[in-house]
Amino acid sequence: MATVPQSELLGLDIQELTVLVQDAGEPDYRARQLFEAIYRQRVRSVEEISTLPLAFRHTLSERAMTVGQPRIEKQYVSSDGTIRYLIAFSDGQSVETVWMPDGDGGEAGDGSEAGDACEKNARAWDRATICVSSQAGCAVDCRFCLTALLGLRRNLAAGEIVGQVVAVLNDRGVALDRGRINLVFMGQGEPFLNYDNFMKAVRLLVEGLGIAGSRMTVSTSGIVPRIYDLGREPVRPKLAISLNASNNESRRELMPITRKWDMEQLMAAARAFPLRLRERLTFEYVLLDQVNDSAQAAREVVELVRGIRAKVNLIALNPGPGIAFRTPAEERVLAFQQVLVKAGIPTFIRRPRGRDIYAACGQLKLSGA
Ligand code: SAH
Ligand code: SF4
Repeated sequence: MATVPQSELLGLDIQELTVLVQDAGEPDYRARQLFEAIYRQRVRSVEEISTLPLAFRHTLSERAMTVGQPRIEKQYVSSDGTIRYLIAFSDGQSVETVWMPDGDGGEAGDGSEAGDACEKNARAWDRATICVSSQAGCAVDCRFCLTALLGLRRNLAAGEIVGQVVAVLNDRGVALDRGRINLVFMGQGEPFLNYDNFMKAVRLLVEGLGIAGSRMTVSTSGIVPRIYDLGREPVRPKLAISLNASNNESRRELMPITRKWDMEQLMAAARAFPLRLRERLTFEYVLLDQVNDSAQAAREVVELVRGIRAKVNLIALNPGPGIAFRTPAEERVLAFQQVLVKAGIPTFIRRPRGRDIYAACGQLKLSGA
């Protein structure tokens, strides 16, 4: 009989839990009970799973099976209600996960802002977005990103990706049937370079926690073969592509991954991506002063995106130590937006969240605030 390869329950799907209960001589339906307890009730320990008979709970403990929720090591609270969590796994590796009450103003889909978050406390929210990491560090080495400076520490297991969501929901005391939660896979790492674990996590979040795929967005720097793979998934998040440049020459400088898959290949994958009813592709574009933010660049973006049911999210660079670019002035951001809007492309300016605690896009890195 197949054995279960890990001692932590979080990350196991229903088939793997079935193997585990059969192995312990228990009936198959115990797998469903475990699944409900781990993902729906979000229990922290095996002892808490009251639907299981005591003897089985003891067996699990004897086999050193734990739920395996990651530990919240630190949290930094921003003046805008954003909370940056430092979340540690059993081997001591840690990543960052960000809680953004009211959504992040861009990924929720409408680009609107629900009031002034600065005036709200961390608990007064009616919807929230959790920004989840897929790897510890990142190997892609984009020139404007702080996470890149870490290099790749390691891939996260499916349970570690789900575990971030579970830990944050428990910390915030969120009941999923009441709170409106969106997930964005835009924390540390390139999700498509950890594709299998990432997709397994998505399925567990959908089936286990009950968060719909349509409430999730995955962002990629352009790992082209995986864009095609995502399009074939029966259950999947929405897709965002980090464009960040308007032509190959500029993108090769800013995002070395362009040397592997150029913009023609990237845009061909974007065009071929099978969108669902009312679904739009998102292009993200980090504006770097005097580098990729000219009116000419905006016109090139219009040509690239033409014919794709898409929206564009503009992000003025979040600066950080070791980043050699400047944030453009507001007028330049607005002028860039105008070119796209006039061409009929829905274009939103994403307000930085939690910049004071280094929680904003591209600022996620292990060192303290
Ligand atoms: N690795 C994936 C997802 C994480 S990065 C990707 O690159 O898409 C999430 C978003 O933050 C990306 O769109 C990226 O372009 C953007 N970003 C990176 N560094 C940034 C910075 N310093 N300021 C603003 N946005 C940044
Ligand atoms: Fe990695 Fe994304 Fe940062 Fe590029 S922008 S280094 S892909 S996390």
